[in-house]
Amino acid sequence: DKFKDGLSKTRDSFVGAMNDLMKDYRTVDEDFFEELEDILISADVGVHTVMDLIEQLKDEARLRNIKDAKDIQPVISEKLAEMLQKSANEAAINEQPGELTVILFVGVNGVGKTTSIGKLAHQYKEEGKKVVMAAGDTFRAGAIEQLEKWGERVGVDVVKQQAGSDPAAVMYDAIQSARSKKADVLLCDTAGRLQNKVNLMNELSKVKRVLGREIPDAPHEVLLVLDATTGQNAMSQAKAFQEATDVTGIVLTKLDGTAKGGIVLAIRYELDIPVKLVGLGEGMNDLQPFDATQYVHGLFA
Ligand code: GDP
Repeated sequence: DKFKDGLSKTRDSFVGAMNDLMKDYRTVDEDFFEELEDILISADVGVHTVMDLIEQLKDEARLRNIKDAKDIQPVISEKLAEMLQKSANEAAINEQPGELTVILFVGVNGVGKTTSIGKLAHQYKEEGKKVVMAAGDTFRAGAIEQLEKWGERVGVDVVKQQAGSDPAAVMYDAIQSARSKKADVLLCDTAGRLQNKVNLMNELSKVKRVLGREIPDAPHEVLLVLDATTGQNAMSQAKAFQEATDVTGIVLTKLDGTAKGGIVLAIRYELDIPVKLVGLGEGMNDLQPFDATQYVHGLFA
């Protein structure tokens, strides 16, 4: 079970704290809820999310006449799952069956963008789909080569130009190449230099314009890649990218590397963007579609 393995650090600290809480408190009273609040906040769940959750739990405890602390645990799982998934199937990638699906990846350097693109390319290939990758980060030294390495590793063609060239021109080439190969999926890397937000915003909108001119609905997804180990930094990156472009989903990487996996809730609930994929390890198969039930199960089970 990938979620259970990937969330083991979070589960160890979360379940440990919850067990202590249950030992200390037999009844659900104000103090119980206050301590629960602290546990959730220290797991990076996010202050607003925690406050809403605690309110809902208090209401439920009253409605269902729950007095025993042990009986509140299933209600916590239930509420967490509800808050994580606002609609069924929201984690699905918007694929265009029989046509070219274009997915744009955005995110700052080091978050795991190239790795996630490579892993997803591998998975689509395993499903029998034809994949092309576009080396749209023409700015960072080594970015093109890194994507090419993934291309070799998973057996997928990479469309590139030389370093410093116009990313929009790379995208134009990539669309032509994907079309001539009758590809199913085009995965596009982009630059992640958030230090100059106006520049990045212009670059991303030009890239999107070029893609949209060639294929009316493209890009079909704009996936923002965030590193789960960076906590509040990930939250502020998300806000900045939301201002720069229309983000349609989140890829949350390195969940396996943090004990604060509650960040998934903060992202989903406070930013109102669905988490579509999660990185649960460094291997090619360690990128998984997000599943709220499995996630919550991974926290407690
Ligand atoms: P980029 O600069 O955003 O393209 O980042 P990279 O794709 O180069 O990834 C940076 C590092 O994070 C690499 O060492 C990856 O192996 C590692 N990484 C990416 N995703 C995950 C993940 O889900 N779990 C773990 N443990 N490491 C990851």
